[in-house]
Amino acid sequence: MTAGLAAALRTGDRRALARAVTLIESTRPDHRDKAEQLIEVILPYAGSATRLGITGPPGAGKSTFIERFGLDGLKRGHKIAVLAVDPASKRGGGAILGDKTRMAELARAEGAFIRPSPGVAGMGGVARRTRETILLCEAAGFDTVIVETIGAGQSETTVAEMVDMFLLILPPAAGDELQGLKRGVIELADLVLINKADGELLDHANRAAADYASALRLVPPALRGWEVPVRAVSALTGAGVDAIWDDVARFRRVLEASGDWSRRRAEQARAALLTEIGEGLLAQFRAAPRVAARFAAIEREVMSGARTPAEGARELLRLFIDNA
Ligand code: GDP
Repeated sequence: MTAGLAAALRTGDRRALARAVTLIESTRPDHRDKAEQLIEVILPYAGSATRLGITGPPGAGKSTFIERFGLDGLKRGHKIAVLAVDPASKRGGGAILGDKTRMAELARAEGAFIRPSPGVAGMGGVARRTRETILLCEAAGFDTVIVETIGAGQSETTVAEMVDMFLLILPPAAGDELQGLKRGVIELADLVLINKADGELLDHANRAAADYASALRLVPPALRGWEVPVRAVSALTGAGVDAIWDDVARFRRVLEASGDWSRRRAEQARAALLTEIGEGLLAQFRAAPRVAARFAAIEREVMSGARTPAEGARELLRLFIDNA
């Protein structure tokens, strides 16, 4: 079954890709086994896309931008997959409809694949599924994979850890007026876009872009040869949007030349390995009978202050290790 699915996926069949992603998202143990087989089969064909992360406060215009940028990219001959990550989502199925209508034109276009957020799950679960979904998209021939963070949460950092280039979209407001943008997010950005540079907001946007550009000049560059550009764009009119594809291409060239491209990916793979080990251990720990028998009581003692967390953890770990 996985061989057939992998073969269909490799032809670029979007329905096969959608089925494969559903398999990845499933929590059923038998599905998980199949998903792992599938990933193993397609892995040699993955890795070549440019992986773009896009984040920004709600209302900044992320989905409007992605649709415009995506349509421009299709004209340039790109094949584009858009994945949404929303670890904080409590919206359940509603998010799916919302996302579909948000990027209606791109969703209909040949050469584009849009996958809404799988919804609620542990952070690690979302990260792993997104990482694996990126691989599937690449094996299906998509050369650009856009990972959009929706909702506020820890998702910015999670996404930054799985993409090659991180784009931050901001509304045309000064930094201290920005709601919902966590400190530190701007330092993750490889490219900053000030959106809504149109109509009455044009001057605001240009001023905000100049402010951010001078603020960023004070931050030492994280990547050799790459000064983080700040661009004023309008997702609504399309002004400045198509040119972002040139920034993306230049970014990749610069990082490939310096070696930072593969170094970033290698670091991400290392971090993901450690995360997987941590999560795997924790799952086994919680499932261990002797741990389970004592866990609630020790948790209570720690919560009431009767024992320190370190002491409680030591006892539980001893029970786990002696049992193993
Ligand atoms: P998201 O929450 O970041 O995905 O933001 P949306 O893409 O849903 O956009 C939020 C609102 O801003 C919508 O009403 C959009 O029509 C509007 N918007 C998005 N881009 C632009 C733009 O470039 N100019 C203007 N004037 N409005 C925009």
